Amino acid sequence: MTKVIYPGQTIGIIGGGQLGRMMAVAAKEAGFKIAVLEPSMDSPCGQVADIRIVAQYDDETALEELAEVSDVITYEFENIDYEGLKRLTEMAYVPQGAELVRITQNRVTEKAAIVEAGCPVAPYIVAETYEELVAQVEAIGFPCIVKTARGGYDGKGQQLLKSKEDVPLAKELFEHSVCIAEGFVPFVKEVSVIVQRNGHGETCCLPVGENIHVHHILHETIVPARIDEATALQAEREAAKIADHLQLVGTLAVEMFVLEDGSIIINELAPRPHNSGHYSIEACNVSQFAQHIRAVCGWPLRKPKLWAPSIMVNVLGQHVVPLTNSISKYPDWSVHLYGKAEAKVNRKMGHVTIMTDDLEATLTQIKDSGIWPE
Ligand code: AMP
Repeated sequence: MTKVIYPGQTIGIIGGGQLGRMMAVAAKEAGFKIAVLEPSMDSPCGQVADIRIVAQYDDETALEELAEVSDVITYEFENIDYEGLKRLTEMAYVPQGAELVRITQNRVTEKAAIVEAGCPVAPYIVAETYEELVAQVEAIGFPCIVKTARGGYDGKGQQLLKSKEDVPLAKELFEHSVCIAEGFVPFVKEVSVIVQRNGHGETCCLPVGENIHVHHILHETIVPARIDEATALQAEREAAKIADHLQLVGTLAVEMFVLEDGSIIINELAPRPHNSGHYSIEACNVSQFAQHIRAVCGWPLRKPKLWAPSIMVNVLGQHVVPLTNSISKYPDWSVHLYGKAEAKVNRKMGHVTIMTDDLEATLTQIKDSGIWPE
């Protein structure tokens, strides 16, 4: 049953990172109160929340406390405890349910769901053991990528196999979990669609973003993606198909590969606002965070509109000092820092969004700024 949650009521968020923080900021603009469950005291979301519950995500008493203080509960990342979330659905209002987290926590169930939705994925096999991989890998051929079913992110838990001789390199991955092996996709671009849906089945997609990764970490998102209109429409259609199939409530980020002929292959899903959608805070009439709050609070969704082409660049630990030293030079840059205490190398500390009428000139400006060395 879809409820409507009103300003003044409390939204509970599991996870205190930057995604929770940006959700909380959007919700607070509308007058909601925020409770956050997060093991660390000084978290990005904790800094802006009204109520902080400092405990592990699977701590039963903490989950009960969150249920007690919240009128609706959402989460900001998918690696929360599934059993805990499931229990929470029985004692609190969790419109997103727990099923989407169960499916997307595991590449095996995630891939199966994408296929069931009728969307294209790279050819793949599931290997429970290294021996199974050895026996089946020829069915995929080389090059291929072996990925742990659980717990991988930013390229961790993956191994590229260029030829048969490389197969032993994948052995170690099986210490973590079951794996999948998938054909290497000769993509020309990586794009993502943030699709959002409320309990009434209203579905909206943000404009397609083009993602550029450096060392497996998202470096920048360019919007609109520099792809044909037909491909962009296809990308949105695929994302909406998956959202409907999963009966999504909330937000799903769908990462995709674009091939030379403009066709699309779905890579993976994230059941939450996504780094590649941060541009929407300034560049759209509704941010992915505000829309997420609308969706989980049972409000009608707003049809997203892009005000101007935009680039979002991530600020990692090593970029913080050069960026803060350069703020005076770039009045058009919207600077977001997440309030993390320690600026470790490659840790996501913030991002910058630049709306521009000239994407190429702005890409050059970013490069020439010296903040993001090659
Ligand atoms: P993932 O964790 O699955 O998003 O993979 C991280 C990155 O590895 C992707 O953004 C791609 O750049 C690359 N990658 C993953 N899977 C494939 C594939 N099947 N073919 C080619 N590149 C891939």
